[in-house]
Amino acid sequence: RVISPRPSSPNEEAIERALRPKALDEYVGQKRIREQLEIFITAARQREESLDHVLLFGPPGLGKTTLAHIVAREMGVQLRQTSGPVLERPGDLAALLTNLERNDVLFIDEIHRLSPVVEEILYPALEDFQIDILIGDGPAARSVKLDLQPFTLVGATTRAGMLTNPLRDRFGIVARLEFYTPDELARIVTRSAGLLNTPITEDGATEIAHRSRGTPRIANRLLRRVRDYAEVKANGVVDKQVAAAALTMLDVDPQGLDVMDRKLLEAIVHKFDGGPVGVDSLAAAIGEERDTIEDVIEPFLIQHGYLQRTPRGRIATLGAYRHLGLTPPSAAGG
Ligand code: ADP
Repeated sequence: RVISPRPSSPNEEAIERALRPKALDEYVGQKRIREQLEIFITAARQREESLDHVLLFGPPGLGKTTLAHIVAREMGVQLRQTSGPVLERPGDLAALLTNLERNDVLFIDEIHRLSPVVEEILYPALEDFQIDILIGDGPAARSVKLDLQPFTLVGATTRAGMLTNPLRDRFGIVARLEFYTPDELARIVTRSAGLLNTPITEDGATEIAHRSRGTPRIANRLLRRVRDYAEVKANGVVDKQVAAAALTMLDVDPQGLDVMDRKLLEAIVHKFDGGPVGVDSLAAAIGEERDTIEDVIEPFLIQHGYLQRTPRGRIATLGAYRHLGLTPPSAAGG
């Protein structure tokens, strides 16, 4: 599935790593965040201090992991990477924290999925660079305070609203990543094509950019599929015609909606009379996880005016009806 939120295989992960920009000035788009980080990183370096903790939020594939790596590199320190669900016990996090060197970056992906007991030991670590660990068990157990090296936590989450307040309050820098414009995505596609040694024309890159749901991960993924098509069905060059034909074959329509997007809109229109419908009913109707609907499918459909989220549920807009080639009922939203 083209819009799947995460890298779909170890192979894709390796390719993603290779395509990842390594420095802040190679990182396309997200101008505000880049400008802010540049100032904060320079200031922290001048003072030889750790950078304030950074929270990055936004849909999958917009460049949160990439940015965490760039922060570490620009700070001239090491990055240790983990994720919320992986840290099952407080000891897992304590082991990571005590191994950090001065000013290192600890990157925790899916930080909203930390268990409460693990989150608990993170608070003093973030605030005072200290942790309390329990040594021994039973009546002989005692709590010991350990000093940590100053470090920077970079946390990533798809939705800031899913973080507990005490955790969110401990981040000095909070940045929301936005969807990328077609121009920005075209630059990313052109850069990636260069790294993959794939000849591409300007309008070829633009065609892919317009169909990438505002998301660099999807742009890079579509580029690789279009490259295969170009090599087998054409002369290897990715131009507008080749890109359009390949993307149509992949069921990505000219507005960048894929099968799941259309399935969701069709379900609202045909099964729920255009809405409003709750997300759980929708998830059941299209056989997709609720999280995927909320994190991946909806943000794009809402931003492009195909879907409205209301207190009573999701509604298909006039734009959705038009896109599906249907006549909207007079009551349709938008
Ligand atoms: P997230 O952590 O938000 O899911 P990633 O950082 O893993 O997203 O980014 C996915 C892919 O998209 C990376 O392999 C990277 O090559 C590309 N990418 C993301 N943001 C940018 C950007 N601003 N400029 C260029 N490439 C980017």
